[in-house]
Amino acid sequence: MTESKIILITGASSGIGEAVATRLAADGHTVIAGARREDRLAALAARVGPNLHVRRLDVTDRADVATFVDEAVAAHGRVDVLVNNAGVMPLSRLDSLLVDQWDQMIDVNVRGLLHGIAAALPVFQRQGGGHFVTVASIGAHEVVATGAVYCATKYAAWAITEGLRQECDPSIRVTTVSPGVVESELASTITDSGAADAMSTYRADAIAPDAIARGIAYAINEPADVDVNELIIRPAAQR
Ligand code: NDP
Repeated sequence: MTESKIILITGASSGIGEAVATRLAADGHTVIAGARREDRLAALAARVGPNLHVRRLDVTDRADVATFVDEAVAAHGRVDVLVNNAGVMPLSRLDSLLVDQWDQMIDVNVRGLLHGIAAALPVFQRQGGGHFVTVASIGAHEVVATGAVYCATKYAAWAITEGLRQECDPSIRVTTVSPGVVESELASTITDSGAADAMSTYRADAIAPDAIARGIAYAINEPADVDVNELIIRPAAQR
């Protein structure tokens, strides 16, 4: 058994976040899982058992993210890992002008990540250790049509996380995980019919979210002097 850690996960009510919470709790870590859908979090808590705590969380609200981290420190004495996973992907062509959806992606995928860093970085510095895990995307490495804004948010997530790594003291580890296509509810926010049709073909090769959870568990469970900086995990069938 590896050392038991206090791990916060954003966007843990479905998909990758849910799988990460489930695996890390099963590994013996104490997991605090946040998201907006409280019914889904309650069902997850009932399934996983006492290693998992849940709390309503909106990552677009800076104060809420700060309280999420502060409450964990108050309850458990420290936070060892923050997994910034919450994300949305309402894909569309730019000429569809779904400007509110562009804003939503920037708010959740970029501002939400920054809110997590702002909340946890002082805690990690005070403790003399910690670990940031960012769930970016293969969209942080390549741009596809209908994905201009989504990919831009994931390029930003990659850049912010790499900058964080360079600036941090070696006691703070920084990992970016870029999944390829994974089974989840991510495509459910797509309202543009062309993008939705293309996505249903693309998603046929999807792998189970536990593949990403295993990658994150590997990075977290490495010893403190080993920093797994970058993982790209995609279906073998995905070109
Ligand atoms: P899901 O839609 O299943 O999960 C997204 C999670 O983000 C949900 O738990 C949702 O919870 C949460 N979320 C959305 N908005 C907010 C918010 N404002 N505050 C807090 N939580 C929020 O999709 P995935 O599991 O696939 O997505 C997880 C991450 O993986 C995302 O960052 C996504 O971009 C990334 N990714 C996914 C890929 C895939 O193919 N599935 C590929 C590459 C990257 P709730 O609605 O309850 O708040």
